[in-house]
Amino acid sequence: MATIAELTTKEAPKWCPGCGDFTILSAVKMAISEAGLAQHETAIVSGIGCGSKTPHYVKTYGFESLHGRGLAVATGIKLANNKLNVMQVSGDGDTYGIGGNHFMHTMRRNLDMTLVVQNNAVYGLTKGQTSPTSQKGFKSNSTPSGVLEEPVNPITWAIAAGATYVARGYSMDIMHLKKLIVDAIKHKGFAMIDVFQPCTTYNKVNTADWYKSQIYKIENHDTSDKMAALKLGEQSDRLPIGLFYRVDKPTYEDGTPQIAQTPLARQDISNVDIGPYLSRFK
Ligand code: SF4
Ligand code: MG
Repeated sequence: MATIAELTTKEAPKWCPGCGDFTILSAVKMAISEAGLAQHETAIVSGIGCGSKTPHYVKTYGFESLHGRGLAVATGIKLANNKLNVMQVSGDGDTYGIGGNHFMHTMRRNLDMTLVVQNNAVYGLTKGQTSPTSQKGFKSNSTPSGVLEEPVNPITWAIAAGATYVARGYSMDIMHLKKLIVDAIKHKGFAMIDVFQPCTTYNKVNTADWYKSQIYKIENHDTSDKMAALKLGEQSDRLPIGLFYRVDKPTYEDGTPQIAQTPLARQDISNVDIGPYLSRFK
């Protein structure tokens, strides 16, 4: 099991003061440690964005990929070595906008992975454009008169698309978030945690004070009831955090007998002649 100190890199994050990325990073490290994983047993993938620097700040395997393409890379890593704890940590613009297609198709495959979305409802790295989760009316560099569209709802989207563990956390409630991530890592299937976080520089609407007035913790909810989970996910007058939905289903890896015993990366291929395959490309 890796300690927090062992998971901490020498390089310090260069985020703005008060950015929610800091506490999400801490929760991710605490969760990996609490899940009993060693450094070499986890791979963290990201896309592009402020929070997508996370793989640089956790001493595990890491890969900062292309914008919105993290889940495709994470899928490749998982299938190459299905014994690894594979996680993606990326922002709302990266995951729900640029990577929207990968988001829904990865969920329906039910790979055993964990997705943590740093949802600050704005594109931070590119200096404050409207993102898919920006509220209607939100004014930004790209929508000076206010957003016309309804925001995407990551919770109901994830449930409908086939994720088997769907939760929402808040960056300022670090112990609650840490538990959600631990449970997501332990869940056998695709786990999605949307995490509300302030962007202190570019989002002056969804601030820490605003979240404090909106958020409450889910209690007395049957997480196996899909319709109840969808209904709870639709709530907009106040914002529930916690576990919405969880179900056990066969994973993509379960349906891949070639990796049932030994991960692909550890299989002996010394007696495999790839000459005939290569010759087709001559
Ligand atoms: Fe965080 Fe926003 Fe600053 Fe990016 S721009 S580091 S998301 S506060
Ligand atoms: Mg964002």
